[in-house]
Amino acid sequence: MMRPIKQPGTARDPEATGLVCRACGCRQFRVIYLKRLPGALMRRRECRNCGKRITTRETGG
Ligand SMILES: [Zn+2]
Repeated sequence: MMRPIKQPGTARDPEATGLVCRACGCRQFRVIYLKRLPGALMRRRECRNCGKRITTRETGG
């Protein structure tokens, strides 16, 4: 069975983006920073569990 883990362009809910904290493995992120770029959207997220911060970049929005 081929089941895609990532579903690009679907929901904005962190639970559905396939985003997993590499430090603790949880999926609870909150957005702490948002920046618009030409043709892209940058989001800085912070893990609610351990506080690790990651940056995601979304295009096509
Ligand atoms: Zn974490």
